[in-house]
Parts: sequence; C-alpha cells; structure tokens
Amino acid sequence: MADIQTLRTEQLIINGQRVDASDGGIFDVLNPATNEVIAKVAKAGIADVEAAVSAARAAFDEGPWPRMSPYDRGRIIQRVADRIRERADELAMLESLNTGKPLARAKGEILGGAVVFDYYAGAGDKFFGESIPLGANVLDFTLREPVGVAAQIVPWNFPFSMATWKVGPALATGCTVILKPASLTPLSALALGEICLEAGVPEGVVNVLPGPGGLVGEALSAHPLVDKVAFTGETTTGAAILRAASDTIKKVSLELGGKSPNIVFADADLDKAAASAVPAGFGNSGQTCTARTRIFVANNDHDRFLQKLVDQTAQFKVGDPLGDGTLMGPVISGGQWDRVTSYVQIGQDEGAELAYGGARPSDQPNGNFLQPTIFGGVSNDMRIAREEIFGPVISVIPFKDEADVIREANANDYGLAGSVWTKDIGRALRVAKGLRTGMVSINSNGGAGVFGPFGGYKHSGLGRELGMHGMELYTEVKNVYIDLQD
Ligand code: NDP
Repeated sequence: MADIQTLRTEQLIINGQRVDASDGGIFDVLNPATNEVIAKVAKAGIADVEAAVSAARAAFDEGPWPRMSPYDRGRIIQRVADRIRERADELAMLESLNTGKPLARAKGEILGGAVVFDYYAGAGDKFFGESIPLGANVLDFTLREPVGVAAQIVPWNFPFSMATWKVGPALATGCTVILKPASLTPLSALALGEICLEAGVPEGVVNVLPGPGGLVGEALSAHPLVDKVAFTGETTTGAAILRAASDTIKKVSLELGGKSPNIVFADADLDKAAASAVPAGFGNSGQTCTARTRIFVANNDHDRFLQKLVDQTAQFKVGDPLGDGTLMGPVISGGQWDRVTSYVQIGQDEGAELAYGGARPSDQPNGNFLQPTIFGGVSNDMRIAREEIFGPVISVIPFKDEADVIREANANDYGLAGSVWTKDIGRALRVAKGLRTGMVSINSNGGAGVFGPFGGYKHSGLGRELGMHGMELYTEVKNVYIDLQD
C-alpha cells in the first residue's frame, strides 16, 4: 500500500490479483475536508464484474474455502483481525482522509472491524443444525450450508465497518464474496481485500470491485451466478436491488435508512439525555442510519431540554478531522452538503425554530463543513421530521403523553432504531415493546455492536446482520430425512 499522504493509485482485486479495469477506466477519490484528490482508483465495468463473478464462483464451486473445516477457516479469519490491528493506525488515517471522520473516531471504527473478525473467527464451528425427533424409525437432521457467491454492496458513511459486517460472517460460513464499495469511499475496502490475502484467505474468495453502483452494483444484483446480495444504503437503492435480484430469486438482505426517535420522558435525567443526544445525532456528521434525529420531549420540558441540547452542542467541536479534539468533520461531499442545507431551508419554510447552526462554520471556508443544526418546536409531520436527511440535523418535537409519543414515533416509514429515557421501568419496557423498530435503547443511545442483531422494520430493511443472526444471512438450511427401517 502506498504512502497515505501522497496521491495513491489503486487497482481492483480479482482472483487474488490487483488488476486494472479491463477498459482502463479510472476515477478520482476526494478528501471531503479539502475536496482535493487523494487517490485514482480503477473503475470496474461489466467485463470486470464477469471476471470477479467467475473467480468467486470457481472459488466456491471448486476451491478449498467452503470445504475447509469451520475451525480452520476461523484461524484464517482470526489472522484478518490481527492484521487489521497491526495496520490500525494506517487504516484509520486512510479512513479519516477519505471520509472526513475525526481520526480518533476512525481508529475506533477500524478496531471495531477487528472485533467483528474476532467474533466470526469463533462463530463458524458454533453455528450448526438441529435434529428433529420423528420416532424410532426415522432420523431427521438439518445442515447449515454456505449460500454460495455473495455480492456485498456498501455505502460511504462507514466504509470499513460496513465491509467487515458483511465479509466477516460470509467468510465464517464458507461463502465467497464480491465486495462493491461506494464510489466516494473505496480505499479502506480495498485495504480489507488486501488484508484478507495477507492473512491467507485463498484467491477468488474476496474480490473487491470499486465502480459505479448503477452499473457494477446493478449487474451484480442481477447476475445469475451470484446467489446472494447484501446491501447497506438508501431505501430507494435497496428497492432497485430487490427488483434487479428478483428474476434470479436471490437471497437479499438490506440495511436501509432510518429516522430514529429518541424519546425523553419528564422523569428522565434530562442532562444525561441531552449530553447523549449530541453524539447520537451529530456523530459521523449525522451520516448514520441509526442517528437519533427525532427527539421527542414532554411538552412542559421542551424549552428547557432544547436549551440544554444547544449548550451541549456548542461544545461539540467541528473542524479538521486530523486536529486535536475534533468531534465532527465535514459531510461526505459537496452534493451531500447541498442536500443537507436544503433541508435547513425546508425546516425554516415549514415553520420550525432554527435553534442552533444551519450554516458553514466561519472558520472552515473550504471542504464540506456544516455546523451541527437543531430545530425546535418541530411537528412530526414536517418533512424535516419525516425524511432521512443524513446530515447533522436534529428535530426536537414536543409530545403529550405515552400513547401519543408511541403513535408519533411509529408514524414514519422507517423503523430502524429508537431510544427511551425514563426512570419508570414499566414505561420503558412498554415503549420498547411499542416501537416498531429493530433496535431500542433504554436510558442510552448505544447498541450491542457485533454481539447483537442489527437491522430494521418497515422501510429500514430486510434481515439482521451481526451476532449469530449474521450467520443466518449467509447460510441455507438443508433437511436430511433418513428412514431407518430395514
Ligand atoms: P446509495 O444507496 O445510492 O449507495 C450505496 C451503495 O449502493 C454504493 O456502493 C452505491 O454505489 C451502490 N449503488 C447505487 N446505486 C445502485 C444500484 N442501482 N444497484 C446496486 N448498487 C447501487 O447511497 P448514496 O451514496 O447515493 O447516498 C444517497 C443517500 O442515501 C444519502 O444522502 C443518504 O440519505 C442515504 N444513505 C443512507 C445510508 C444508510 O446507511 N442508511 C448509507 C448511505 C447513504 P456508488 O457509490 O457507486 O453509487
């Protein structure tokens, strides 16, 4: 891998080799903090999709990977985790330069990726079938078998983490993979492909294909020799992938958008809830599918809570991702900056109160920087409360009572995550059960990480990644019935 601070050139990874795109195509990759070109990357086309699918197919149909014992695969997956840790500083710098994440945050995500591989290194030999009692003369059991060739299409908001969430369980189950990173952020996914090779993953098992989603992602989703598609990104893209995958009845798993409620009852610790709401809404510049972007606050507490939130947000340091103490960098691109600021205008036009931010920070004339932005007095039917903005914009919405807030929290097409803050355990659990979301946090905005299932209800997705649920996404179940009579 080239020196990080100089302009890099990167190739595709197909069948264990670094190769140029077959038509010589190349695209530029920018640093969102400066909008300078940091890399020139090979741009895959349809011929490269064919080559990668053939390589992954051959590695699955004839290669050693799916035939190895799960324990032995696990030893190689563990080496991937170890190698990520050895290269963590370099990977963190790469991720920070390509995404604008603060360096410390990027390092945390890289190390989190190593933990994903730790987890799945030990998972393959602990995920097995069952025997089904059918009487004295029958033996019936199930086998868990790898689903085959998996296309894995990932977004730009957590480029390395999302790749590890998908590659880890696929490797543990014995699948082979074609990883398609987002065009804005292909660098750490290519590094992960390289690390898999360094760790001894056989050629053809992990292929990495940067290239346009509408071409490469679409072709992978429709390809008759691909058995499964796993996708994280926007809901409309997920729907397009479902359509493309439907003719070949692929297994599809989707992690899509969110508009997650963060419900603060009057008896909650308001200071703690306000302090936690800031990173939960503005961390990663708000470009997080589980971002708690709708904060519901009891009517009487609205003004007091809003002030606490504004005070806490003023401490959330925006600036150079490589600078000391920076907590929030730029948004990913000029296009995303335009999109997010258009919502700042929409919120004002809808009559919400702009309580903080809404503009470029005065000390950041370059790059895609935007202040963390808070709207107060928001109504749940405004566009800023209904639509995924995917930037640092939070809406504070007053509510009347428990039934009212459950109804309002659920009155949204998304259903990814939610939080509830209260000292009343009965109320906390009633609300947790009432929310139509895949994940709920109580007196916290945190989650279980790799150890628990991750995914959403409604338009937020299909299937659950992480934990042992992640293993289900990459396996088929075979039932074996044996007549024991002579
Ligand atoms: P997309 O959903 O378009 O992109 C995610 C991935 O899908 C990328 O690798 C992309 O490739 C690929 N892709 C794009 N079109 C297709 C297609 N037709 N078939 C298969 N794969 C495809 O998100 P964007 O990057 O365009 O961001 C748009 C908006 O999506 C954001 O503003 C944000 O609101 C939301 N978003 C939500 C995320 C989430 O986790 N909930 C994550 C990222 C974005 P390529 O990069 O080459 O286009």
